[in-house]
Amino acid sequence: MQIYKNNSLHLYNTTSGKKELFSPISDGNVGMYVCGPTVYSNVHLGNVRTFMSFDVIYRYLLHLGYNVRYVRNITDAGHLTDDGDVENDRFVKQSKLEKLEPMEIVQKYTVDFHKVLQEFNFLEPTIEPTATGHIIEQIELTQKMIADGFAYESNGSVYFNVLEYNKKGMNYGELSNRNVEELFANTRDLDGQSEKKNPQDFALWKNASPAHIMRWNSPWGAGFPGWHLECTAMSTKYLGENFDIHGGGMDLKFPHHECEIAQAKASFGHSPVNYWMHTNMLTMNGLRMSKSTGNYVLPMELIGGNNPFFEKSFSANVIRFCFLQAHYRSVLDISNDAMVAAEKGFNRLMEGIALLDKLVASSTSTLSIQNWKEQCYKAMNDDFNTPILIANLFEGVKYINLVNDKKETLTVDDIAILKETLNAFVFDVLGIKNVKSSSNNTDKLTGVVEMLITMRDEARANKNWALSDEIRDKLAATGVILKDGKDGTSFSI
Ligand SMILES: [Zn+2]
Repeated sequence: MQIYKNNSLHLYNTTSGKKELFSPISDGNVGMYVCGPTVYSNVHLGNVRTFMSFDVIYRYLLHLGYNVRYVRNITDAGHLTDDGDVENDRFVKQSKLEKLEPMEIVQKYTVDFHKVLQEFNFLEPTIEPTATGHIIEQIELTQKMIADGFAYESNGSVYFNVLEYNKKGMNYGELSNRNVEELFANTRDLDGQSEKKNPQDFALWKNASPAHIMRWNSPWGAGFPGWHLECTAMSTKYLGENFDIHGGGMDLKFPHHECEIAQAKASFGHSPVNYWMHTNMLTMNGLRMSKSTGNYVLPMELIGGNNPFFEKSFSANVIRFCFLQAHYRSVLDISNDAMVAAEKGFNRLMEGIALLDKLVASSTSTLSIQNWKEQCYKAMNDDFNTPILIANLFEGVKYINLVNDKKETLTVDDIAILKETLNAFVFDVLGIKNVKSSSNNTDKLTGVVEMLITMRDEARANKNWALSDEIRDKLAATGVILKDGKDGTSFSI
């Protein structure tokens, strides 16, 4: 079904600062690139939020009938540390901490990333390329930029010459509205000052000593590619020199995406991307999430309930539902109260959907289902407004309850539209995992665990701590985690 033909999807383009009508380069096809994770630590909730926003965007484009090539990379080399330690990128630094090979670090955290995304029911991207798999492409782009006068070699490293780029009539800073003179004045150079002509120049290639394990041969000696360059190399390879959508977290706007634009314009003579999209931050209890302040919870800790911030465990479905109640360009704040409220709302939505099969049709409709359906599309066509969509879905649940209570009526056809639309938006577009099909086994398992919790409560009442602990530990060994709270014991599977 090609719904997009009668549809008017608008999306907010960071470049113009406006919502624009989406018009892909090739009719019916969409090329989308999203900057993936740097796999040197566990994926954090902020990343999950960013990738979930693009998962829903991907899902909605598919739902509209577009043929989408969605490329999301894995950064497994070249991402320097924030402290500008040029000898160690993030992988080398972490490998020293964990006493593992850098590629073991990459493997460990790539697996973690995939597991977490699977847990949250993400669709796989169509291509997931790695930086280390595209060293040759990055070297070739660097050679081209040197040949065209946009980059220079210095002490075995290669830097992009920002001033030269501007002199040739382009504007470094166009995406984030930065002025190059101001940037020069405010730059605190940590990244090889002595090698660069100007402090704002950024590395396309970094030389590396033999102590650096992750290094490759190049025309400039052994080294590794710069982080910004990998995205230009991979997006170009799989989506072409000009593609539709490029996304990422707003923290990547500068310098990462700014550098990508400069590299592409220098290499190909034109803008690489038609629509730049950026997601906002995630906070917890009103504060920035950060390991150093301790205001921090990992995705699996939130699901498992083993953290000090949330009184119970929450299913991945509830967390997804909670996240999508905020628009992707707004700050999302999570808290225990927000999650509990989301769980109640989620259950209400699921109960409504379950009731759909039991509705009795009438010969006439007293509600306008067509109008309601249009409102659902209108919300998503307005820059993927998931909170408004969710409000409309609850309106649908209200209709179900009114018809069920015989206060309103719907025809067979209208019930079918209501059902089809709710299912499409809840499961296909918002990406809620439909657990109905496996509910029989889940119900049985839930029953068994609840029985064991009751037995454990009895053991505790009799002060039989050994048995109580044994039940908890043996359940934990099978992956069922019990959590004691003030309202009794909850569990996560
Ligand atoms: Zn990137």
